[in-house]
Amino acid sequence: MPELPEVETVRRGLEPVMTDTVIEYAQVNRPDLRWPLPANMSERLTGQRVLGLRRRSKYILCDLEGGETLLIHLGMSGRMLISGAQVGAFAHPHPAPEKHDHVVLNMVGGARITFNDARRFGAMDLAPTPEVASHKWLAGLGPEPLGNSFSDEHLVARLKGRKMPIKSGLLDQKIVAGLGNIYVCETLYRAGIHPARQAGAISERRVRSMVPIIRQVLEEAIAAGGSSLRDFRQADGELGYFQHNFDVYGREGMTCKTQECEAEIRRIVQSGRSSFYCPTCQR
Ligand SMILES: [Zn+2]
Repeated sequence: MPELPEVETVRRGLEPVMTDTVIEYAQVNRPDLRWPLPANMSERLTGQRVLGLRRRSKYILCDLEGGETLLIHLGMSGRMLISGAQVGAFAHPHPAPEKHDHVVLNMVGGARITFNDARRFGAMDLAPTPEVASHKWLAGLGPEPLGNSFSDEHLVARLKGRKMPIKSGLLDQKIVAGLGNIYVCETLYRAGIHPARQAGAISERRVRSMVPIIRQVLEEAIAAGGSSLRDFRQADGELGYFQHNFDVYGREGMTCKTQECEAEIRRIVQSGRSSFYCPTCQR
């Protein structure tokens, strides 16, 4: 499932192909993904110039000249493929249409963006640009972890007195938007905090220490995505899924990466999701 860094990588990959370019023809191949697609979607997109691409949490927001914004969520398995244009060092010819190509944007100048989603957990909608922030998908979200309004004061205030495990606190999209399972595990490992610790019982000093760590973990992953846009892994024109080495995520039974720690990484299941942690370094 794409997390914030993957979505940001997709946004950065689409930006040069779409921004300031007109959608010559939007092909919409089915009425719904996870939810119904907007009415007359093809007509509302076709002929529109793309003003720019933004990201909010795990949504890509594509602002159109006519005053609407296309909201895109990749879901569990959604893929964006670019063909007919240069992506990093590569130019990809248009592939043969595939079964799960649900939305295809043919851009003036010959580039094509194909949204393929076998499991159809992805979603798209159109909303007037000034009202996007209050769209039902975005209205309840907390601050962006890489934005200015995500501060240590905010995190301290929102976790104060909370009985939930810190893992659940960081996954709560109302507290901070866009953090997912992988990057929460990585954050808690670097902060030395056990994922099952009660959020409200962690000292203020340690809560504050997580804010720069969250930013660092995400920025490193975004940087890894950026280099994937330039290298061979993007040779198929597919955006967003890149190799990244995690410190703790997915390392159950392997030796902790902290110097001089010889403990084995453990895995527990919290709210149905795996948490990986070092029993020695994380308290
Ligand atoms: Zn350790």
